Amino acid sequence: MKGNNCVFCNIIQGEAQAYLVYQDELVSAFLDISPINDGHVLVVPNVHAADLATLEDETAKQMFVTAKRLAAALRAALSGVEGINLLLADGQMAGQTVFHSHLHVIPRFAGDGVGFPHGNRQNPPTEAAMASICERLSERLRSIDNS
Ligand SMILES: [Zn+2]
Repeated sequence: MKGNNCVFCNIIQGEAQAYLVYQDELVSAFLDISPINDGHVLVVPNVHAADLATLEDETAKQMFVTAKRLAAALRAALSGVEGINLLLADGQMAGQTVFHSHLHVIPRFAGDGVGFPHGNRQNPPTEAAMASICERLSERLRSIDNS
């Protein structure tokens, strides 16, 4: 998207500065300017897409493959990397602040203090609710696959 106000489009088109670590015909990867940890990289589609739903499948695949390769490169290139988190915030409620979809690749170091809430819900769903959610999701997924 040419001439828009999207900072990621500007980076991809070379009109804004970034520490570009990778680029191919589908995706670009550059350092996050306010990194959670050193080596925090963003993988973005080259074509502007605000959210996951509007990404082409091939582009979405390449984002994940690139994140996988970056994870290996981070472990090899930076000392002390003991883990990697992948994070994609899809929508404002999920914490998305730049509305050009992007996958965070975040290296983790011992004692870095970064945390994500996980597995500590006060009121976990019942088995009936889990079964109902599973049924609705799998049904909807089949219709999306076929569209
Ligand atoms: Zn954009």
